[in-house]
Amino acid sequence: MAKADFYETLGVGRTADEKELKSAFRKLAMKFHPDKNPGDAEAEKKFKELNEAYETLKDPQKRAAYDRYGHAAFEQGGMGGGGGYSSSGGFSDIFEDIFGDMMGGGRARRSSGGRERGADLRYNMEITLEEAFAGKTAQIRVPTSITCDVCSGSGAKPGTQPKTCGTCQGSGRVRASQGFFSVERTCPTCHGRGQTITDPCGKCHGQGRITEERSLSVNIPAGIEDGTRIRLQGEGEAGARGGPAGDLYIFLSVKPHEFFQRDGADLYCMVPISMTTAALGGTFDVATLDGSKSRVTVPEGTQAGKQFRLKAKGMPVLRSSQTGDLYIQIQIETPQKLTKRQRELLQEFEEISSKENNPESTGFFTRMKEFFEG
Ligand SMILES: [Zn+2]
Ligand SMILES: [Zn+2]
Repeated sequence: MAKADFYETLGVGRTADEKELKSAFRKLAMKFHPDKNPGDAEAEKKFKELNEAYETLKDPQKRAAYDRYGHAAFEQGGMGGGGGYSSSGGFSDIFEDIFGDMMGGGRARRSSGGRERGADLRYNMEITLEEAFAGKTAQIRVPTSITCDVCSGSGAKPGTQPKTCGTCQGSGRVRASQGFFSVERTCPTCHGRGQTITDPCGKCHGQGRITEERSLSVNIPAGIEDGTRIRLQGEGEAGARGGPAGDLYIFLSVKPHEFFQRDGADLYCMVPISMTTAALGGTFDVATLDGSKSRVTVPEGTQAGKQFRLKAKGMPVLRSSQTGDLYIQIQIETPQKLTKRQRELLQEFEEISSKENNPESTGFFTRMKEFFEG
């Protein structure tokens, strides 16, 4: 499904300024906020889209990237097309950002020096069950903000210094009286940074960070489970003006396998065998994830649903030397499209069959008859 245009989502023109964006977002976010629409999945989806759109467009660098490349700016080819990255501030974060003053809370992660922790990034990675079995080292490319090398993150042109904000005297907060109350809010001049930059750095335009693509090598340990999050500390977005970097989270999913279902360290495999193999006995080979084959012996008279355990042929247990088992679950295939000769043979077989050949079905119908007829 094509993703909606961020500007359309917010209902603003492509030239909308920061103020218009904020007011459009605020209006719509109020309307679709999950607290106002409990249990409404549509509203929740809309709310998430609004957040994503606003989070992208409010950041001048992300907006520039979006204007230029569209959604592709934030999508990453990654592993087998399954990779992707997004900023994962989460909506409580962004919500606090915009409604923080209203709700009386400041942003805890912004310290008085204007140093701001970088956003956490999320990277979706999909691997095969074989890769989860063996483990691997994956190379990923992550577009992320890094500290500007020209100004070392200060945002000020080299040779100049950011100035202490005259409005708040560097505290980032201002107090205003409203009747009996004194309300503290984020300084409107420096937006809480405590400093203003008169001569911005030419490379980062005063942001203190620039967007670059980095290559990272990620170690995927053998036995990793679907849904695992790997946290790479400090590999997220660079902090603003010398603040600490955010973290990078790898969200791992394991593709469904054609033959094996996984339950923890154990694997399950459904194997259909012919009616005659089930009745007469026989053998078959199953391929296992370690690349070898295991021979399964089917004894005479094997019933459907019978399970065979192949010890230690399952998945490795994460950070352990243990290995799960592989369970073979037998299905019995009833023959179809019989020839005349096959039909004759089966009819003859039926005629000479006795109760001992089918104790389950004979017993079942006898018991049922007794139950209903006394
Ligand atoms: Zn710079
Ligand atoms: Zn200020």
